Amino acid sequence: MSQITINDLLAKIAEYNQEEIDIVKKAYAYAESLHQGQKRQSGEDYIIHPLNVAYILADMHADRDTICAALLHDTLEDTKITKAEIERDFNPDIANLVNGVTKISKMNFSSKQDQNMANTRKIITSITEDVRIIIIKLADRLHNMRTLQFKSEFKQKENAMETMDIFVPLAYYIGAYRIKSELEDLSLQYLYPEKYKRIEDIKVRVEDESRHCLAEMLQTINGILDDQNIPHDIKVRTKNIYGIYKRMEQGHKLSDIHDLLSLKIMVDSIANCYQTLGLIHSKYHPINDKFKDYIYNPKTNMYRSLHTTVFGEDDRLVQTQIRTFDMDKVASFGLTAYWDINKGDARNVMQEELKNKYQFFKSLIEINSVFADNQEFVSQVKRELLTDKIYVYTTKGDIVELPKGSTAIDFAYRIHTDIGNTMVSAVVNDKVVEPEYELKNKDRVRIITDVLSYGPREEWLDKVKTTRAKKKIKEFGKN
Ligand code: MN
Repeated sequence: MSQITINDLLAKIAEYNQEEIDIVKKAYAYAESLHQGQKRQSGEDYIIHPLNVAYILADMHADRDTICAALLHDTLEDTKITKAEIERDFNPDIANLVNGVTKISKMNFSSKQDQNMANTRKIITSITEDVRIIIIKLADRLHNMRTLQFKSEFKQKENAMETMDIFVPLAYYIGAYRIKSELEDLSLQYLYPEKYKRIEDIKVRVEDESRHCLAEMLQTINGILDDQNIPHDIKVRTKNIYGIYKRMEQGHKLSDIHDLLSLKIMVDSIANCYQTLGLIHSKYHPINDKFKDYIYNPKTNMYRSLHTTVFGEDDRLVQTQIRTFDMDKVASFGLTAYWDINKGDARNVMQEELKNKYQFFKSLIEINSVFADNQEFVSQVKRELLTDKIYVYTTKGDIVELPKGSTAIDFAYRIHTDIGNTMVSAVVNDKVVEPEYELKNKDRVRIITDVLSYGPREEWLDKVKTTRAKKKIKEFGKN
C-alpha cells in the first residue's frame, strides 16, 4: 500500500463510527506537532508510524480511545509531554492507555537484566488491567515488523525473535489470528529468508494446482446453499507461510498438510452450520477422523468453527471450515471482535470475557501472585505460557490446555484442587497410569481419586509444570 494519510484513517473510522471523528483529528494534530522534526530510520516523518498503528486498529474497528491512544502512543516516551497533560487535553482513559504502552515499550525479552525483567512483567500483567494496552502494543509491533527493512541485520533478527517469543503467543492467546499470522510470516522472513522463499514458492505452486478444484467446490456449495435458502459467504483461505513451515519442520510431507488450502463457509446461524456440514458431506466424501467440532468444543482462545476435510475433484483433499458470521469475526480478530459485536460496551465485555473464558488469563494471574521475583516470574511465564502447549480432553470432552511436559497431576489440579489432593492414579486413553505420567496431545484423561489417599506427595513438586499444581501441593503440605 502506498503511504496512508490522516484522511485514509478518518475514512476507515467513518466506516463504523461517524460520531467520534473530531477527537481523532485533534489527537493526530497533537501528535504531529509533538513529533515535529523527528524522523524514522526510513527517512520519513515520525508521525507516519503512529498513524499506521492507528490505521491497523481502525481496521479492527477499535474504539475512539484506542485510536487516539495509538496516535499518541510514542509521545510520552519521545517528546516533552506528560501523562497529566494528555489527561487534561483528552481524557483519563486515553492517558492511561498511552502510559501503559509507554511503560512496556523499552523491553528486551532475551536480556537477563532485572530492569528488563521488570518491564517484561509489566507488558504481560498489563493485560489484566486493560487488554487494549496489549492490543495497541501488538499493532505497534506489527507496523515495526512491516518496516523492519530499514534496521540493521542484527536488529532485524533480534526483533523477529522477540516477536516470536512474546508477541505471537500473546496474539494467539487473545485469538487475534490475523495479527498472529502476519507477525509469524514477517519473523520467519527475517530469521530464515531462504526457507521462507522456498515455502512461498511451494505455496504458489499448490495454489495453482488447486485452483480448479477449489473453484468447482466453491461454485457447487454456493449453489447448494442458495437452493436451501441459507444466507452465506464463502472464501478461500490459505495457511500462512509460517504455518506450513512449522508443519514441515515437524516432519510432515506437503501432501499430508490437508489444511494448506481451505474453504471458509460462513452462514447465519449455528443450526445452519450443521445443516451445511450435512449438505457438504452428502456431496463430498469426508475423512472421518479429520472432523472437528469447535462450535460446541471451542479452542481455549474461544475460536469456534466446524472443520471437515473432504475429497474434492481429482481426489484432492480440501479442508472446509464452517461457522457463523459472528464466529468468523472472533476467528479473525479474537477478543477484539467485541469492538464490533458490542459497540460502546466493548471494553468491559472484553475484560470480562478474558477473565471468565480465556484459560491463559487465569494461569497468568496465578503466576503473577506466586512469583514475587521478576526474573522468576518471567521464566515461569516462558515455561508455562510462552511455550509449546498440549491439548487434552476431559471425560466430558472439554479441551484442557497445558504446557508441554505436563503430567496427569497438572491436569488434576487444573480441574479442581480436591481432585488433585485426592488423586491416586489416572486413566489415559483407557489405560491406568501413575499420577506422574506425562500427557501427550489429544490424550483423554480421567483422574482416579480416593478420599482416603495420603494427599499429594512432596516428590510431585518436581513432576509438575503448572504454577497452580505447585502452589496447591505446597499449600496442602502446610495444613
Ligand atoms: Mn511505536
